[in-house]
Amino acid sequence: MPNTKAFAASDAKTPLAPFSFDRRAPGDYDVAIDIKFCGICHTDIHQARDEWGGSVYPMVPGHEIAGIVTSVGGKVTKFKPGQHVGVGCFVDSCRTCTECRKGLEQYCAVETVFTYNSKDKDGHNTYGGYSGKIVVDENYVLRIPENLPLDASAPLLCAGITLYSPLRHWGAGPGRKVAIIGLGGLGHMGVKLAHAMGAEVTVLSQSLKKLGDGKRLGADHFYATSDPETFTTLKGHFDLIVNTVPAANEWDRFVGLLATDGALVMVGVPDEPVAVNGFPLITKRRTIAGSMIGGIAETQEMLDFCGRHNIASDVEVIPMQQVNEAFERVLKGDVRYRFVIDCGTL
Ligand code: NAP
Ligand code: ZN
Ligand code: ZN
Repeated sequence: MPNTKAFAASDAKTPLAPFSFDRRAPGDYDVAIDIKFCGICHTDIHQARDEWGGSVYPMVPGHEIAGIVTSVGGKVTKFKPGQHVGVGCFVDSCRTCTECRKGLEQYCAVETVFTYNSKDKDGHNTYGGYSGKIVVDENYVLRIPENLPLDASAPLLCAGITLYSPLRHWGAGPGRKVAIIGLGGLGHMGVKLAHAMGAEVTVLSQSLKKLGDGKRLGADHFYATSDPETFTTLKGHFDLIVNTVPAANEWDRFVGLLATDGALVMVGVPDEPVAVNGFPLITKRRTIAGSMIGGIAETQEMLDFCGRHNIASDVEVIPMQQVNEAFERVLKGDVRYRFVIDCGTL
């Protein structure tokens, strides 16, 4: 069984520290991967600190994994050693329910096995990408286009697909007005992807501090949500608003920015209930919805789209030893726009 070094949280309050464990011995359908890079998603912080409840320790976070195949099981047909591959937020699902058969494994009716803080089908805790190696069934491994840099591709496995999926589902494209709330790890991918899809893109950020970055990333417009004028200027304007902010907000103000049939989609997880009034919804047939990552086929579609459009994340690569400092900087909004751990530094 391959032993691997890692960084783990031992409880909700203690900083991450060195840890080691055995990955399962690769089976017939498994792909063994040398993890080169792993992105730091805000979800890693929520879960390491048990902010959503139910966290299991020790926890090795990390679900934006980019690496190189080292070996494959005898029955693997999709991968071979040397290929650039990714692993995202889940590593298995029931494979037979309606959702799994539709390629919506992230919404598996039985159980999605998440990459960490979850249990695999044998009842073992899953450990994520803040580690050196991982073994994953070939059906849950993704091909990373070879023209993309591996470090900047890692965040596509969560931040990328989390924005790509709702943008596709709600029809972002030419002639459609899309807003992204929050220019962080998820938000900056939303701007790049919606722009590449041909939509007219607006960033709704807390201030105008990131205006230059927003325009460079592909935004057509940039507004501060701290300015009340924003909510009068943009009234009834958007076909789709994707919220990436993990905090409470006055959601009625954003519903008011939707055009008839517009949708406000939550991908960030607000830490308080999303309260809205009924009339702004019914008078313009507006929708409030949620969306979680994307299925395997759609994640591959997103990676291929990024390969064709030369899209990757804007990253700051750090050694594993700086992960705790990086968590604090994410909480302060001090990252442009995703930390990626160089797992070779373990
Ligand atoms: P992030 O990099 O920290 O970005 C969040 C952004 O939200 C910040 O850059 C900031 O943008 C804005 N923001 C932060 N605190 C705020 C506050 N108190 N009030 C208003 N705006 C604030 O985080 P992330 O990695 O993008 O993740 C965002 C959220 O999505 C997290 O809750 C994460 O758990 C969740 N998530 C969901 C999925 C899914 O499948 N649905 C997948 C991955 C992550 P501005 O400065 O531009 O305002
Ligand atoms: Zn994530
Ligand atoms: Zn299923």
